[in-house]
Amino acid sequence: MQLQQIETYPEELLSCDVKDLHHLFPQPTLMHLSGKNKQPLFVSVLLHGNETTGFFALQNLLNKYAKQTLPRSLSVFFGNTQAAERGLRRLDGQLDYNRMWPGTEALACAETQIAGQVVDIMREKEVFASIDIHNNTGLNPHYACINRLDNRYLQLGNLFSRLVVYFIRPMGVQSAAFTEFCPAVTLECGRPGQQHGVDHAFEYLNDCLHLSELVDHPVHIQDIDLFHSSVQVKIQKNSSFSFTDKKSDLLFDKLLERMNFTEVPAGTCFGLVQDDSAMPLSAIDEHGLDVTDKFFKIDGAQLQIKRKTMPSMLTLDERVIRQDCLCYLMERIALAV
Ligand SMILES: [Zn+2]
Repeated sequence: MQLQQIETYPEELLSCDVKDLHHLFPQPTLMHLSGKNKQPLFVSVLLHGNETTGFFALQNLLNKYAKQTLPRSLSVFFGNTQAAERGLRRLDGQLDYNRMWPGTEALACAETQIAGQVVDIMREKEVFASIDIHNNTGLNPHYACINRLDNRYLQLGNLFSRLVVYFIRPMGVQSAAFTEFCPAVTLECGRPGQQHGVDHAFEYLNDCLHLSELVDHPVHIQDIDLFHSSVQVKIQKNSSFSFTDKKSDLLFDKLLERMNFTEVPAGTCFGLVQDDSAMPLSAIDEHGLDVTDKFFKIDGAQLQIKRKTMPSMLTLDERVIRQDCLCYLMERIALAV
């Protein structure tokens, strides 16, 4: 597997389906298109193969500028086209393409090498800003994530949504790698396959191409809801879980995903357990410490949250829960007036 760099694209890219992209680009591909302002905007799409909104937004953007010069140079990394062909986040045995970037805890492999190359190339080009576009499976609003509390990064995130989430973990995500040398955001555009998600991401990309600079002014506090996502919750490896099978170690409540971006009080039930002595979840904070006991307890057969918190990315998709995580837990950050 080798990184391919291109400066023009095949005509089919303007109309192909996301599943056909792998035929166009069998190798990981970094595309550089020249625009009026030479400092490129960097966009990555399909780091997760089933998260198609970024690809379709980009396709609309390429169509818009097919016969006119881009306002700013644009570099695009097409991520896991192989998984996209199959409609999956990643293939079994593949490294998660949003955990392979410099800073990752994964062992060096072909994927981490390619991610490192992309970062080096874009740093060399003095990239203007970086945008990585994702979807999620649960009921979530559109929001932007940043990995540094800096005015320019907040401005870039706030341009997409009033909801901005700050996190430093998981490690090895694309935006964290780019954060070291340019303003970087991850966009969460709701579920895949929604036209308003594609439209929103397209408008945002177009706006970013027209930005002459990112100002270092504070964001107006009335325009932003800023949260710190500090805890990742996973299912313990040896625990079974389900939304329907009452014999599982942990039976989740189907209303779970309605809690996303909602403050839930202490005592809220996440599900029912078979064995009240075996905690089926593990909560890890941003320093890698196990904080399960601070956040969860078993009361009778109920698995309860122990303190007021705000979950995000809760989903009913069992494969995603097993491959990635159950959810993140957040708290609000108050910006100075
Ligand atoms: Zn994703």
